[in-house]
Amino acid sequence: MKVLLLGSGGREHALAWKINQSERLTKLYVAPGNAGTAEIAENVNIKVTDFDALATFVENNAIDMLVVGPEDPLVEGVRDYFEADARFAHLMIVGPGKAGAILEGSKDFAKEFMFRHHIPTAGYLTVTKDNLEKGFTFLETLKPPYVLKADGLAAGKGVLILENLEEAKRELELMLGGKFGKAGNQVVIEEYLKGIELSVFALTDGKSYKILGSAKDYKRIGEGDVGLNTGGMGAVSPVPFANDEFNRKVEERIVRPTIEGLQKDGIDYKGFVFFGLMNVGGDPYVIEYNVRMGDPETEVVMPRLKTDILALFKAMAEGELEQAAFELDDRFCTTVMLVSQGYPGDYEKGKEITGVSDVKGSIVFHAGTKLAEGKVVTNGGRVIAVSSFGKTMREALAQSYENVAKIHFEGMNFRRDIGFDL
Ligand code: ATP
Repeated sequence: MKVLLLGSGGREHALAWKINQSERLTKLYVAPGNAGTAEIAENVNIKVTDFDALATFVENNAIDMLVVGPEDPLVEGVRDYFEADARFAHLMIVGPGKAGAILEGSKDFAKEFMFRHHIPTAGYLTVTKDNLEKGFTFLETLKPPYVLKADGLAAGKGVLILENLEEAKRELELMLGGKFGKAGNQVVIEEYLKGIELSVFALTDGKSYKILGSAKDYKRIGEGDVGLNTGGMGAVSPVPFANDEFNRKVEERIVRPTIEGLQKDGIDYKGFVFFGLMNVGGDPYVIEYNVRMGDPETEVVMPRLKTDILALFKAMAEGELEQAAFELDDRFCTTVMLVSQGYPGDYEKGKEITGVSDVKGSIVFHAGTKLAEGKVVTNGGRVIAVSSFGKTMREALAQSYENVAKIHFEGMNFRRDIGFDL
């Protein structure tokens, strides 16, 4: 099988690493990829949203399967684009079409979907410029803190959590006035859920699903979970508090009704579903859906998957996921992200990365890296994820940190407290 994987982050290196282990693989291309994917696949310099260029590549290289890493091409309709063209009738695609991707592309749609299908989530009201007053009235009925969300994609920055009612009203007006551009044409005001966040991942063919496990990521830049939000500084899987009873609730109240809801709505969904959850006193609530894997969660979820991933993807594409073999590793997997100095603010690129070849007993996934004159150099804020297994979460973390100490680049920063709260 010839596979083209879209994306360039740690998530895509982890997917490429797993795909590369498949007996079914004959050739793996990654567009655009990074220095890590270049070691195990062939990088192709095409933008993930340049559908015409992707189509030419797929045709010229007789690609059998397209695996979509990030959300942008999905929300922009990459599946619909290929499905509309008879030349690609044979192409298997991992990732939903526009009709499914709207679960991530519109928070208003996601909330309406959850309410309609009785999936536990926070109470909400969606407002536009024309009913700002209703928004103010709704805010007055809520207790602080106040949650405001731009409806559309805003690169993880479109959510505000505010302590003060007057400030919440002011921000609501600013958001509807264009603070986040078109993404804020509608704003979802939500009840605040108090609890511990985690995520659960599933692969679905639209009828059946396989749950790939739970994970917890660490979003803030600073130890003790303080400071600015990042793309993610580390992750663990599974989440120790997600015991059998909790997992059963997640499956019965959330995963199954979501897949059934998609079916009832006539949405043919084939791909990953990321359930962003809040554990409120032992009961799971959905905070958000994403229509792709998370980063850095993929760097701890993929290593735990024992099954041949291309066999799973093929079964998914053919609508036969229910019968497919599926096995997860019982061990814990943890990852620690190494980031550039200054991230998530301004940072320099092009710093040489050394020591990766000294790493023993961990898996190194590249995120923002590239090859320059034969050297691997930094090329982004998040640079490298060091993933490890352990019989316990602590054992896995100790292994990751032992290997982190062997890697170096100028200004390298990382959190020393991944998993500290679990
Ligand atoms: P990201 O892409 O960073 O995951 P996003 O922009 O898609 O985020 P959400 O995941 O909906 O937005 O919200 C961002 C964060 O805000 C959540 O991870 C959570 O910490 C917090 N949050 C969102 N909704 C609520 C809520 N109702 N109650 C409490 N916290 C919330």
